[in-house]
Amino acid sequence: MKVLVVEDEEALADVVRRGLVQEGFTVDVYGNGVDGLWAASELPYDVIVLDIMLPGLNGYQVVEQLRARNVWTPVLMLTAKDGEYDQTDAFDLGADDYLTKPFSFLILVARLRALIRRGAPERPATMSVGDLTLDTARRRVARAGTEITLTPKEFTLLNYLMHRRDQVVTKTEILEHVWDTAFEGDVNIVEVYVGYLRKKIDTPFDRRTIETVRGVGYRLLAT
Ligand code: CA
Repeated sequence: MKVLVVEDEEALADVVRRGLVQEGFTVDVYGNGVDGLWAASELPYDVIVLDIMLPGLNGYQVVEQLRARNVWTPVLMLTAKDGEYDQTDAFDLGADDYLTKPFSFLILVARLRALIRRGAPERPATMSVGDLTLDTARRRVARAGTEITLTPKEFTLLNYLMHRRDQVVTKTEILEHVWDTAFEGDVNIVEVYVGYLRKKIDTPFDRRTIETVRGVGYRLLAT
């Protein structure tokens, strides 16, 4: 059983790592959100222990980006009672369980075993917004039954906008999620790609799914 621990407090990370190894787990530890997200996306784990307050990306951003990339490894979040966030946020953003610090190691192990037994929950393979559908497994997009061919970048952009449907998403957020957190190019590239996407998913169908929110960003709406 492989566990990924993303925790920047070295002493705590070390105690957790040693304890889990004693329990028979294989453990990788990363001390910041960016490396944690990379490991969680690229390497196979049975469960992830994710702290909230992390350098780089915080735990919420990590789990959100992980789910947006269609990685459904169970996540247990470590929350702080006096923190800026609470547990309901953890669930909203796609965590599967949480523990409030300070926690008992035995409870942590029991919760991790339960999450591993449950496995990655079944997620809908297809997302729909109105008559627009996106099949993440097959990487297919269709509108009213007509298949639409998108480039990989256009697909990732639409996938992200559909995950955030009905919400205003800023260009910076799009840049961070669809390109790369390390991408240092111009946010105008977002405008260019939204334009490409509109020409494929909206214009031929006489729709306006991607609304421009002036001075802020975009909102994907069912039309
Ligand atoms: Ca921390």
